[in-house]
Amino acid sequence: MTRGAGRFAPSPTGPLHLGSLLAATASYLDARIHGVAWLIRFDDLDAPRNQPGAEDHILRALEAHGLRWDASIIRQSENVDAYEAALTDLANRGLLFYCNCSRRSVAQKPFYPGTCRHRKLVTADCAVRILVDDAVAEFDDMVRGFQQESLARTSGDFIVRRRDGIIAYQLATAVDDGAPEIGRVIRGNDLLGTTGRQTFLMSKLGLQPPLYGHIPVLVNAAGQKLSKQSHAEPLHAEDPEANLRRVLSYLGLPEDTESTGCGCEVVLERAAESWFLARLPDTEAIEIP
Ligand code: GLU
Repeated sequence: MTRGAGRFAPSPTGPLHLGSLLAATASYLDARIHGVAWLIRFDDLDAPRNQPGAEDHILRALEAHGLRWDASIIRQSENVDAYEAALTDLANRGLLFYCNCSRRSVAQKPFYPGTCRHRKLVTADCAVRILVDDAVAEFDDMVRGFQQESLARTSGDFIVRRRDGIIAYQLATAVDDGAPEIGRVIRGNDLLGTTGRQTFLMSKLGLQPPLYGHIPVLVNAAGQKLSKQSHAEPLHAEDPEANLRRVLSYLGLPEDTESTGCGCEVVLERAAESWFLARLPDTEAIEIP
């Protein structure tokens, strides 16, 4: 069993693109210089969004870029018993309630206003939310510094099981990242705002949060994060070394001309020598041409 590992946790909803290569490379280098294992976890609980062949494409692309993982692939769909146990534990302590508010009615408010908190709904056609009360989530981000969030004012009581029965990302991720196997979570800034909810869940479940570092995300000229939703191009397969050099430059690493043409493994090995989280560009997003 690994302890304190880093992890890359893509959702298998499409091929790897430059933005996800950036996150994968950053977490890989961080794990390497800290001498811990690097794991791959597929966040595949949202089955309707999974794309056939995406897992395989992502793994082949990681390999082609010299990013080698250290243990068997983890899939959230294979860990559902642990999430159910966590939900039962929270429910037994009176922390959960059912909610049948429409997504649209909640989206119009800055945070969930507690509408169903005391309605004692028990129907199946409900989401399940957790009471946040006056919890203040705090963590020291290795890139973005000290973060403090009053959950009642940012998310309010948030969803831990969706109305369609699917375990919510926050709950599954809290259970997985709070396990002793995981020690370092390096991921995109777009997820900074989810971390407080995850550490809150970890504290309720008696789990130890990992160290977090949120790195800049790549955005297109319209300011949209490169993602499957913004139709980011899949990575060009012909020249992985060029893709890698590109993301290393976004990560603030100096250009390394000596390793040109030596292949991705060598480029990564040399990059690990000069990788330092604090050298990351001090920005939330990097616009790419
Ligand atoms: N699977 C999610 C994503 O690809 C979250 C990853 C994470 O928590 O690092 O955006």
